[in-house]
Amino acid sequence: MLEPALLPTPLVDCTDEVFARAGVELRLKRDDLLHPSVPGNKWRKLAPNLAAAVEQGHTRLLTFGGAYSTHLRAVAAAAGALGLESVGLVRGEELADRPRNWSLRAAERSGMRLEFLTRAAYREATGRVPGEYGPQALQRRWGPCLVLPEGGSNALAAVGAAAVPAELADLDGRDVVCCPVGTGGTLAGIAAGLPPGARALGVAVLRGGEGYLEAEVARLHRAGFGREFDNWRIDHAHHGGGYGKVPPELAAFAGEFERRHGIPVERRYVAKLLAALADLAGAGAFPRGTRLTAVVTGLPDPE
Ligand SMILES: *Cc1c(COP(=O)(O)O)cnc(C)c1O
Repeated sequence: MLEPALLPTPLVDCTDEVFARAGVELRLKRDDLLHPSVPGNKWRKLAPNLAAAVEQGHTRLLTFGGAYSTHLRAVAAAAGALGLESVGLVRGEELADRPRNWSLRAAERSGMRLEFLTRAAYREATGRVPGEYGPQALQRRWGPCLVLPEGGSNALAAVGAAAVPAELADLDGRDVVCCPVGTGGTLAGIAAGLPPGARALGVAVLRGGEGYLEAEVARLHRAGFGREFDNWRIDHAHHGGGYGKVPPELAAFAGEFERRHGIPVERRYVAKLLAALADLAGAGAFPRGTRLTAVVTGLPDPE
C-alpha cells in the first residue's frame, strides 16, 4: 500500500529581510517532505486518482511525460507500491536506444514499461492534436487502463490539491497561498480549497502560458468543483526564460535561500516561486500585513 510519509505537512515561518521590510510574512508549507518516492504535489494529485483506479478495478495506469518527468516517476512509484501495472509514453523516440537517464531508470526500476514516441505521435497520444495515435489507438494497444494526463492534472488531481489549504488553519483576508504553475492542477486545487477572503497566487514556470494556463485552471475548476472561482491569479513574469531554464541569478537566489534557511530548493519550480515572491514583495505588490504561504511542491532532482 502507498502510505503518506507525513500528513499534514509541516508549516514553517520563513520571513526574512526582503519580506519583513515589505511588512509581509512568509511561511513555507513543506509538501516536499510529504512522501519519499511520490514527491509533493504529485502525491496530492495522484492519491485520489489511485483510489479511483483501484475502486474501478483498473490494473494498469498509463501516462505521458518527457525525459525527466517527475510525474512519470511518481506514477511508476505509486503503481509499483499498489501492485498496479504502469505504462509510460515518453516524448522523443531517439531516447529509446540511448542509455536511460536517472529519471527514466528510476521509473523502470519501479516496474514502469516505457515506450518512446516521436514528437508528432506524442502530441496525438496526449490528445493535443487529433490523429492515428489518439486515445482509441491507446485503448487498442494497451487494453483497459486508467489514462492520466501529462503532468497528472485532471479533476480528481485538483480535488487532491485542495487538501493543501484545508491543512492551513485560520486562513483569512490577509492570506495569499502561493504555488508554482506547470499544468495548473495544483493551483486549481489550492484556489478551490481556500476559505472566503483568502487568495491564491500561481507563478508560471513556462513561457507564453498567458491565457492558456488561466483557461486550464478554469476548466479544472468546472470539472472538479462544478464552478469557477475568482480568488486566484497567475504571475507570468517570473518564468526565468522558459520551462527548465534556470538563469544564473535564479540559481544564485536559490543557493542563497538554501544557505539562509537550510531548506533544499528545487530549481525548476520552487526557486521560481520563491524568487517571484521576493521580487513582488520587494516591489510593494502585497499590502503590508499580507501573509504569504508558499507551497514547497517538490524536492530537488537527485542528479
Ligand atoms: C510537477 C510540479 C509542479 C507543477 O504542478 P502543476 O499542478 O502541474 O501546475 C510544481 N512543482 C513541482 C516541484 C513539480 O514537480
